[in-house]
Amino acid sequence: MVVEIISVGTELLMGSILNTNAQHIAKKLAHMGLDSYYQTVVGDNPERLRAALDVAFSRADCVVTTGGLGPTKDDLTKEMLISYFGCTPTEDPEALRRLEERAARRGTPLSTSMRKQATVPSGAIVLQNDNGTAPGVIIERDGCACIMLPGPPKEMIPMFDEACNVFLRAKSNKVFVSMNLKLYTMAEKGLPVGESPVADRLGSLVDGENPTVATYAKEDGVLVRVTAAAPAPAEARSLLAPVVAAAKDA
Ligand code: AMP
Ligand code: MG
Repeated sequence: MVVEIISVGTELLMGSILNTNAQHIAKKLAHMGLDSYYQTVVGDNPERLRAALDVAFSRADCVVTTGGLGPTKDDLTKEMLISYFGCTPTEDPEALRRLEERAARRGTPLSTSMRKQATVPSGAIVLQNDNGTAPGVIIERDGCACIMLPGPPKEMIPMFDEACNVFLRAKSNKVFVSMNLKLYTMAEKGLPVGESPVADRLGSLVDGENPTVATYAKEDGVLVRVTAAAPAPAEARSLLAPVVAAAKDA
């Protein structure tokens, strides 16, 4: 399955916050062996979010969004996806109960804006939020799926892990295992390590498709990452071993 991430939030586009949600999700997708080829950042704007969804669904089976599930006017991800998938909005009783309980604890009535967070697409999987107010939602339609998660990382991370358990893990038929080799620059000996000489020494190893061998220039040297995909970790590790040995000898 191909999964694409859409990070929703004008703050991201303005550079006010770092997109750590996409980093977390991307890492987990890679570990689960799910292919992910593109990521998008889009502001809190319904037309541009719709356009981003059109593009994402033209090349992926599953889109994970973060952000825009909260109570304020600019939180429009869920409304947009309900309309995008042509779903009927309904109130999730458990999400509503949690919101009412929270309002009661604070001694305030539940406001309309807070209550809208309990609205979910009918028939969706609802991921309750133990660390905040907006539940996450998984919609599946015609072989496509969208997993909507809240923006705050402390809410998004546990919910993404739950989404993995209830949904994503079952969609993957392979795992990725990586091994990193690091060549450090020895500045005191005047021996800088450059990426291209390392790539040259690796020769045809960098052309392999499984495992793949990639070089990354770092401040203090060059990282060589060898990654294998296989149905199970043990198989991936045995694919890795000879290529890692060859890379060390190169
Ligand atoms: P939102 O639900 O979109 O209003 O986002 C609420 C808050 O979550 C933002 O003010 C940020 O602090 C945080 N947040 C949203 N999106 C991200 C992201 N992609 N990476 C890290 N933090 C985020
Ligand atoms: Mg927002």
